[in-house]
Amino acid sequence: MKAQNRRSWLAGAAALAALAAAAPASAQEFPTKPITMIVPFAAGGPTDIIARVMAESMSRTLGQQVIVENVAGAGGTTGITRAAKAAPDGYTIMMGHMGTHGAAPGMYPQLAYNPQTDFEPIGLAAGTAILVVAKKDLPPKDLKEFVAHAKANEAKINQAHAGLGSVSHITCVMLQAEMGTKINAIPYRGTGPAMNDLVAGTVDFMCDQIVSVAQQVRGGTIKAYAIASPQRNPALPDVPTTAEAGLPSFQVSAWNAVFAPKGTPAPIVARLSQALTAAVTDPAARKRLTDLGADVPDAAGASPAALAALVKRENERWIPLLKNAGVVAN
Ligand code: ASP
Repeated sequence: MKAQNRRSWLAGAAALAALAAAAPASAQEFPTKPITMIVPFAAGGPTDIIARVMAESMSRTLGQQVIVENVAGAGGTTGITRAAKAAPDGYTIMMGHMGTHGAAPGMYPQLAYNPQTDFEPIGLAAGTAILVVAKKDLPPKDLKEFVAHAKANEAKINQAHAGLGSVSHITCVMLQAEMGTKINAIPYRGTGPAMNDLVAGTVDFMCDQIVSVAQQVRGGTIKAYAIASPQRNPALPDVPTTAEAGLPSFQVSAWNAVFAPKGTPAPIVARLSQALTAAVTDPAARKRLTDLGADVPDAAGASPAALAALVKRENERWIPLLKNAGVVAN
């Protein structure tokens, strides 16, 4: 090679190297650093429990830590607003749910995000049955007695929930509508801290997702009056369905799902989706969640397209329902 040619070849190679260094890491290399998964509730509640199981399995698949960060407030909408505004590079994702991505637009007129247009759906992580649970020494022995007790003591008893628009809030709005009561509801930063007060007996009852109540009910630290699903759950086989227990019209379940901010590149969304699919089909992760009563989807059920369709259906269901009920957060 002549000196002149060699010099220009070297210059060309150096320019290429500089370009490569300046360019963002390609999707093939993703991820090159830890990923943050925002959980919009306090630690210890159902969304946090599901997120931690998913994050652990996804970390193994991706070869980088998926770190759970709890950003609680306003029924989960604070954390989701923050996550929606994060750089759409795949390094910030979130565990949203039926409240934040289904019901919130019907509850928060000023909501800073649109669940259908401000996210890249990654996939469904788990469906969860809802239970009516109470402190262990609340007098009623079964759901019928509980309904009578709630009506008779409307001004004296309290219900806990995870903030306006959270699953524990909207499902107990439905329960209270069925019971015809207006019992005082106390907002927490998640049902993890609410559960602590239920166990301590400082609040009387709540409507919560099975994954965070199963162990407490099995341990006898709280009691469950009914599960609001068509069938009993193998994780809590002794808990009757609401139909069996005399309140068949109270039927509701929840879901938790992973989203990325809008604009996250398609190859990165595909990589995250593949890691989520690996997590929901990972026998150990599935067992951890099914032992707590969750319905873990198969690969097709955890696809981005299935989640996009679910969010649309849920918005169509919850937004008019909450607007008609007149429950609005300001
Ligand atoms: N996701 C729960 C709810 O909406 C709260 C929590 O996960 O702590 O009620």
